[in-house]
Amino acid sequence: MLDIDVTRRSFLQAAAAPLAAAQTGAKPAKKTIGIQVGAVSFVDEGVEAVLDELQHRGAVNTLFLATFTYGRGIAGRQIPGQPLPDHGKQQYDTESFRGGDYATVHPQYYGNTVLRDFRAPDLGDFDILESVLPAARKRGMKSIAWFEDVFRGDIPRVSELQEKDLHGRNATTLCLNNPGYRNFLLDLTEDYGRSYELDGIMWGSERQGAFANAIGARHSGASSDPGRVTCFCEFCQRKGRERGISFERAQKGFLELEDFVRAGRRGKRPVDGYYVTLWRLLLRYPEILAWENLWHDSLRETYEAIYQKAKSVKPSLGVGWHIWHNNSFNPIYRAEQDLQAIAPYSDFLKIVMYHNCAGERMAGYIDSVCATMYGDLSRQEALDFHARVLNEPEGRYAEIPKTGWPAEYVLRETQRARAGLTGTKTLLWPGIDIDIPTAPGNSKCTPDGTRRAVLAAFQGGADGVILSRKYSEMKLTNLSGAGRAVRELGLI
Ligand SMILES: [Zn+2]
Repeated sequence: MLDIDVTRRSFLQAAAAPLAAAQTGAKPAKKTIGIQVGAVSFVDEGVEAVLDELQHRGAVNTLFLATFTYGRGIAGRQIPGQPLPDHGKQQYDTESFRGGDYATVHPQYYGNTVLRDFRAPDLGDFDILESVLPAARKRGMKSIAWFEDVFRGDIPRVSELQEKDLHGRNATTLCLNNPGYRNFLLDLTEDYGRSYELDGIMWGSERQGAFANAIGARHSGASSDPGRVTCFCEFCQRKGRERGISFERAQKGFLELEDFVRAGRRGKRPVDGYYVTLWRLLLRYPEILAWENLWHDSLRETYEAIYQKAKSVKPSLGVGWHIWHNNSFNPIYRAEQDLQAIAPYSDFLKIVMYHNCAGERMAGYIDSVCATMYGDLSRQEALDFHARVLNEPEGRYAEIPKTGWPAEYVLRETQRARAGLTGTKTLLWPGIDIDIPTAPGNSKCTPDGTRRAVLAAFQGGADGVILSRKYSEMKLTNLSGAGRAVRELGLI
């Protein structure tokens, strides 16, 4: 009870602060009200019309423009099969969507990678940065180039950069230890930084290491194939050797882990149970966790390399990262997101706190790990355990997909991240869910739910919010809910 009382009090204080500031004449610190938006929205609806809606409904002052991805999460129109929102072209882009770079590719910056042909062809010559930046600047809005590491398998020469799975096959994901991929990210950073008047860049990687992937420790993880885990390419092998990790032992451990997971997915309980047997495997092959950690060290090195490159191009460029929603489900993944470690090369962090789809996603995560690491527990027991260790609201396994998670989740998660960043200068901009697709019959976003999520983020001490995932899937009424919260708090 005490915690809640303290929380309520700090909320009232936070809400009253802008008023107090207005009375004394002091200006409250400006908060970032960001939104993720892809090129297709500007083409379909017009640049000025979109910016009007974002400002008037969402109180948005910062654009996170989806510049590079081959995924539909942040680019393209509504995902086929999901209802089209109340704006934009009332037609799916099933045929025309391909992805790639939605800005102009300036070839002089790409001397260090084999990738050449990655301009998104979906929208002709439309350059999202060239088209939107001047209009945004005129309105006093900031612009950040937002890109992620989602690729297709049919990009010319991409196979040279792909990860290798446990059995030596190419994966569709690219290896962070492959110099060709690392350089591509740095070249892209340089191109954006030199070619456009940007306020910042944000990059995101929704991936994890081979151990967490093998046990399916992510939402929708039940479909993950423990034989397809990555990365075991020559560059990762060399890096492992340099760290004194035996590649052969790691490989052997992962092959045994593959058998363990396949048996679990078939419902065959090990003699000593799932948890004990998995621990026996980890004790026998500590290389499994060493290999998992190597992957995340490589991700952090990539963050640092992008940060250094961006600052060398333009010191005033803000640089930050999108932290995957798995941070709210998988405790191992959360352990790998060491905020103090990444803060020195993070001007800001977008930590995903998508309240509505979290219920469905957590249930999917529980389904997956209840056939592997937590196979000895019932779904409800596993959910209770995770709620306790992750400090999240308790819920009923059967109900959370239909209710989503309450704003309390956003509050606690923001408070945790805020405390985790103590002593750093890194700004915290939680990612807020506006109409991220869920299955039919499951919880959907509402204007008041969105409003409460934004209020909770600021109550928890956020420096801003990023409305996610893309404007082209958001309902205008729910965007207005976010704007209402911003205005209630007197932030604009
Ligand atoms: Zn590799």
